[in-house]
Amino acid sequence: MLENDVKKVLFSEEEIRQRCKALGEQITKDYNEMGKVPLLVALLKGSVPFLCELMKYIDLPIEVDFMIVSSYDGTESVGEVHVVKDLSRSIRGTSILIVEDIVDTGRTLHSISNLLLHKGASDVKIVSLLDKPERRVVDVTVDYAGFPCPNEFVIGFGLDFNEKYRNLGYVGVLKEELYK
Ligand code: 5GP
Repeated sequence: MLENDVKKVLFSEEEIRQRCKALGEQITKDYNEMGKVPLLVALLKGSVPFLCELMKYIDLPIEVDFMIVSSYDGTESVGEVHVVKDLSRSIRGTSILIVEDIVDTGRTLHSISNLLLHKGASDVKIVSLLDKPERRVVDVTVDYAGFPCPNEFVIGFGLDFNEKYRNLGYVGVLKEELYK
């Protein structure tokens, strides 16, 4: 059973749902005030469960697109970001809300934000389910953060370890003996 590999549950399904509801309502309010409708750019694969939960609570005529960027192998981020799958349409003049699973060093989002601005986005904001502020190496503003995350390797609700555990309904800490 998958849950035998989990040291502890950090954020339960219900806590995540409640937080997504609050984030979706805040995003709706803020973009209404700005008079803008964002294109949600979800970074595959980790952000998929978060995107699905979050967008139900965004009461705006949003569109969704996906990117695949790679920079991660095992449990340590390696810095360089490589675009594996790009957006399917031009984003010139578009408000972008990047949907991410977790911000760690900040390198991925720093690179992607700059890339999207370079492609002509009018503004780029970030929503991330989890934020590890202690680990930050590059200065990145997370406009909407679900939960602050302790400095531990977490899995579940989209987050993987070597592509496994994404299907857990909650976020948990992986037992160390499984990756040390
Ligand atoms: P950054 O570029 O901010 O260092 O890394 C962001 C990416 O690192 C995330 O999208 C995620 O794929 C990965 N990452 C960072 N911390 C964790 C973690 O605790 N667990 C998992 N599964 N992935 C992580």
